[in-house]
Amino acid sequence: METAAAQGHERRARAFAAALAQACRGAGVRRLNKPLSNLFRDREANGRGLPAAELTHVLEVDAAAGWADVEGMIPYDLALNGTLPHGVAPRVVPQLKSITVGGAVAGIGIEATSFRHGLVHETVREMDVALADGSIVSATRDNDHADLFAAMPNSYGTLGYATRLRIETMPVQRYVHVSHRRFKEIEAFFAAIEQAFDADADFLDGVAFAPDDFVLSTAAFVAAAPHVSDYTFENIYYRSLRERDEDYLTAHDYFWRWDTDWFWCSKNLGAENPILRRLLGRERLGSRFYQRVMRANSRWRLLETAERVAGYRRESIIQDVDLPLATAPDFLATLMAEIGIFPVWVCPVRDTGGVYAPLFPAPAARYVNFGFWDTLRFNVGYPAGHFNRKVESAVTRLGGIKSLYSSSFYSREEFDRMYGGDSYRQVKRRYDPDDALGDLYAKCVRPR
Ligand SMILES: Cc1cc2nc3c(=O)[nH]c(=O)nc-3n(C[C@H](O)[C@H](O)[C@H](O)COP(=O)(O)OP(=O)(O)OC[C@H]3O[C@@H](n4cnc5c(N)ncnc54)[C@H](O)[C@@H]3O)c2cc1C
Repeated sequence: METAAAQGHERRARAFAAALAQACRGAGVRRLNKPLSNLFRDREANGRGLPAAELTHVLEVDAAAGWADVEGMIPYDLALNGTLPHGVAPRVVPQLKSITVGGAVAGIGIEATSFRHGLVHETVREMDVALADGSIVSATRDNDHADLFAAMPNSYGTLGYATRLRIETMPVQRYVHVSHRRFKEIEAFFAAIEQAFDADADFLDGVAFAPDDFVLSTAAFVAAAPHVSDYTFENIYYRSLRERDEDYLTAHDYFWRWDTDWFWCSKNLGAENPILRRLLGRERLGSRFYQRVMRANSRWRLLETAERVAGYRRESIIQDVDLPLATAPDFLATLMAEIGIFPVWVCPVRDTGGVYAPLFPAPAARYVNFGFWDTLRFNVGYPAGHFNRKVESAVTRLGGIKSLYSSSFYSREEFDRMYGGDSYRQVKRRYDPDDALGDLYAKCVRPR
């Protein structure tokens, strides 16, 4: 039976595509009007733009066949709420509630299930894409629009916007049992990761806390739990990794274990302080609230100005990078020695081989994502982007690839080589010949 949400979908998608066409003709704002974004490039938020907030419904769930149809701008918390009652969840649920399904394809999404299921786009079966001319095409891995399907991952809205996606789901159970193993040696940590790729687990991720302090967490769905931990208020999940050997969470809380403290970035806002946590309350503790605070800070340049007055400069290093398993230890050692940001999130990923994404080619059959998000402060005159460039050059030297959601400094030639420049131009010629949706390099790389 068609749900009410499914009945309204065509109207909402058409309205979005019409607004997109109008904006591309220069008669509107060509930017998604949605409450939040997980891009760490400052951008204007003026409440105008394409009607993305309408396209946020779960349309249909077929648990037996293992898929769900969702609208392109649905945030993952709504997507999960819509699938859990059917006993299933998207195979890859990125850790922050406000990340949308379409955004995670266009900007690359990952989670602790990625060691088995790959990146978000590898779990997509079909995509309806609104193009600059206002038409909507349905793309799959092997139909007439397979070229568009393959090029959507890492396209950042420059080819079109996904209005509906059919995503693969996995069965869930009520609880998740987590085991934490601690390591002092980087070699032992990566040897354990290599073994864990073949383990009979549902989730696998880790954290580097210091050069001699690594934790690898494996987790599995279970039907019953002797007790459950609550990391949505006074207790902090990432700290538990160093304190416990095992743990139980509800499946819902496990999916959002990193959201309450934005991994560990809540500490930069003082939100690990027990008194402030109580004052903020359970509802505010989460990535949505921190993002709003962070945007206000970046709009008013509060911290930056205070630090400048005190004689300090700052550089934000907010990056996710993927390295082949073989060179991942070398990368992490370089990162720890030359940048020194801790903690670092470590997430093993398998290239499932199901989707070749020319704009974001997998660096190896098995690789490791490192996520590090912090600000370095210094009182010497480093050139702009000094530390981010070091990260980029280590990634290139070691055969990896970097996500593009924050600052990048690649030359056009390097960028073309790494992110499928020829394929991109071919697809662009077919689907956006007038370049109305902008150019990927111009959008993602900070002007020099
Ligand atoms: C601090 C930080 C931590 C992160 N951590 C994680 C993580 O743990 N796991 C993870 O998977 N990812 C993570 N990301 C990356 C995140 O998934 C990507 O940045 C993603 O693109 C954000 O999606 P969004 O829905 O917020 O989209 P937005 O930020 O709104 O948009 C991102 C880009 O995608 C385009 N876009 C948005 N919707 C669509 C659509 N429907 N069709 C086509 N293009 C579209 C936009 O035009 C824009 O260029 C992190 C990012 C940051 C900044």
